[in-house]
Amino acid sequence: MTPLERSSSAVGADWPPAAQAAVPARVPTVDVSVVIPVYNEADGLQQLFDRLYPALDAMARDRALTYEVVFVDDGSRDRSAMILSDRYRARPDVTRVVLFNANYGQHAAIMAGFERVRGAIVVTLDADLQNPPEEIVKLVDAMRAGHDYVGTIRRDRQDAAWRKTASRAMNRLRERITHITMTDQGCMLRAYDRRIVETINQCREINTFIPALAYTFANDPIEIEVGHAERAVGESKYSLYALIRLNFDLVTGFSVVPLQAFSLIGALLSIASAVLVVVLALRRIFVGPEAEGLFTLFGIAFFLIGVTLLGIGLLGEYVGRIYEEVRGRPRWIVQAVLERRSDEPRSPAAT
Ligand code: UDP
Ligand code: MG
Repeated sequence: MTPLERSSSAVGADWPPAAQAAVPARVPTVDVSVVIPVYNEADGLQQLFDRLYPALDAMARDRALTYEVVFVDDGSRDRSAMILSDRYRARPDVTRVVLFNANYGQHAAIMAGFERVRGAIVVTLDADLQNPPEEIVKLVDAMRAGHDYVGTIRRDRQDAAWRKTASRAMNRLRERITHITMTDQGCMLRAYDRRIVETINQCREINTFIPALAYTFANDPIEIEVGHAERAVGESKYSLYALIRLNFDLVTGFSVVPLQAFSLIGALLSIASAVLVVVLALRRIFVGPEAEGLFTLFGIAFFLIGVTLLGIGLLGEYVGRIYEEVRGRPRWIVQAVLERRSDEPRSPAAT
């Protein structure tokens, strides 16, 4: 059953929210937390600050909400960490910075941010301004209307054509093999209820895909359209290899259908081979031995070897994930955190 089905099923209003109550949520002390992973974004950060903070200040004023921004520096090798610490000094009342010692990936960075958020509503945003910070308020409004997960669909997505095509194909594949219904899985501007974030914090998954993970816990998700722009500066931090890895995480982390499909293919191939053996045996008895057809044989053998290797690789993907999980090593190491303790007095904000 998908979360969407669950939300519209017969669970009446008089049922206590048992599934939600099972997670003891720390008491949120601000209304909205915005979590932003940062990896080598030094050239674009100032532009981000210039749009993000006014947008959030306007939201705080118009909606009478409090907010915080949690930046997670994912082991940047440029000046990002320094720029973030300057930002913390400029707005310590609403800014917190988590510093990784190395690059653990966007989703690990977001999870580390999740572990530290103090907000009742948690919004994730990329640092590259592809998703306009001005849209955050739309997500917050949808959350305040009662939804526990606000997904997004990029209006007029501005990315390379090959990425859009590949992403559509992956979207379709994921739709088929998991129960997760997301129109646009790649867009990271999303809002989550605090309870969902607490549940994600309990998962301790190493290679995961946050929007999908959150979706499996959502009771009342909704999707809204948001704008999309080209990267303000710099290049995508995802190499082709990193993108492929991320998609493997999405497929193998949320479904065992690929393994099951492979068993099925294996079974069909075995039956087909058995038929071939019988046909060849009969032919040899009644017609005589075959000398021709060497390359056909090679062709068939290579195909089967290819299928076998693919199967071993697929199995390896799952085994590798299990191995990483059972080692139980820390998922990341936080080198430093810049934040004001919650008992420190608040000072009037400077900009
Ligand atoms: N990012 C990260 N760690 C990484 C790669 C990316 O924290 O290893 C951050 C990056 O700084 C940005 C966000 O994740 O804020 C999305 O990255 P990017 O814009 O490069 O991805 P794309 O939009 O091309 O999918
Ligand atoms: Mg981007």
